Amino acid sequence: MQLFETATDAALTLRPDVPVYCFRPQVLKADATAFMAAFPGETAYAVKTNGEPMVLEALAAAGVKVFDVASPGEFEAVRTVAPKAGMLYMHPIKAQSDIRLAFETYGIRVLALDHEDEVAKILRVVRALDLDPGTITLFVRLQTKGHAAYELSKKFGAAPAHAVELLQRCHRIGFKVGICFHVGSQIEDPETYERALASANWVRSRAGVPLAGLDVGGGFPAEYGHDPRRRKPVMPGLPEIMSRLREDIDAWGFSDVPLVAEPGRVVVARAFSLIVRVLLRKGRRLYINDGIWASLSDSWTGKITLPARFIPDPARTRRNGNPETIGAFRVCGATCDSVDILSRPFWLPETVDTGDWIEIGHIGAYSLSLRTRFNGFYPDTFVEVRRGFDEGTAAEGYASLETMAD
Ligand SMILES: *Cc1c(COP(=O)(O)O)cnc(C)c1O
Repeated sequence: MQLFETATDAALTLRPDVPVYCFRPQVLKADATAFMAAFPGETAYAVKTNGEPMVLEALAAAGVKVFDVASPGEFEAVRTVAPKAGMLYMHPIKAQSDIRLAFETYGIRVLALDHEDEVAKILRVVRALDLDPGTITLFVRLQTKGHAAYELSKKFGAAPAHAVELLQRCHRIGFKVGICFHVGSQIEDPETYERALASANWVRSRAGVPLAGLDVGGGFPAEYGHDPRRRKPVMPGLPEIMSRLREDIDAWGFSDVPLVAEPGRVVVARAFSLIVRVLLRKGRRLYINDGIWASLSDSWTGKITLPARFIPDPARTRRNGNPETIGAFRVCGATCDSVDILSRPFWLPETVDTGDWIEIGHIGAYSLSLRTRFNGFYPDTFVEVRRGFDEGTAAEGYASLETMAD
């Protein structure tokens, strides 16, 4: 991988017409280390957020020993780069053949579920392979309520009374049992974990079985840009969320239970930026070479304002507009699909034009893991960048945005 000091250096050297992912391994290591230091339990990185070998390798090197996986593809991705790492198979609804593969080939012994039919499925495989249920931990996934850019409890999770039954059933069979929840991604209300812990406590006290673990899932928010026309969100940063979570864990009596977290976004978001090129400016619209079917679907569905840095093409000598004025530009994606338009504008200097580049920051989560080959566009170019997106001289556009919002 070619190494550059900044993404601007990369753009001006390579003059790329295709999107270029800028990987920052030091930032990834720093963010993973910070999370592990702040969380009072095991940190299991959620592989679906960004499962690139370079990411898994850097995380393993940074000391991440456990990974949250959901499919044979993810088992293999982890096994390949970190053969000694532990894996938690936290998808509540699994194919029976995948459960067998997890037990037999990958030695996985921790699984999640939210229904009795899943217990039956797991038990069939356990019997067929003659495994001792006492060596296996089943986490019962609890439904939660809260505000997040992505709410996942509509899809997964047992209601509290149902979770009580499931815990007792698994315990009776001889499995070790735990409680897990996942409050959704990019939480928007710091009370979210507390509500989930209160509910987990209710379930624990009704179930009356020994708990082998409590898994608080993911959802920890990453930092993005913000729209100066909207009220600045009052979301505290990770250190504050973590200190509240630690207090709540104590207050609800879970401090003597082995804890697990499954962060994704908050660990990997800042580790990548993306250089895109403006293929055409049409009035207030920018047509770029990436979009919702490639790296930007998460920002589209999650209505996330992405931090953007302007990288003007020095070859363009004539420009219109005041470079000091920052304005909103609607961003249209590369495919011929008419829905391929971002749900939030980019805030950029008025002089932005055809042929310029934009560095999109904090794009490491749910970007390249979600890209498709739709319309023949598949960004797959990587460089390594030494300096962090937010470091050094103020990010043009992004920095102005901060000033305007205060
Ligand atoms: C997606 C997912 C995560 C990671 O969520 P983030 O919001 O990226 O931290 C963790 N646990 C489960 C079960 C998930 O599905």
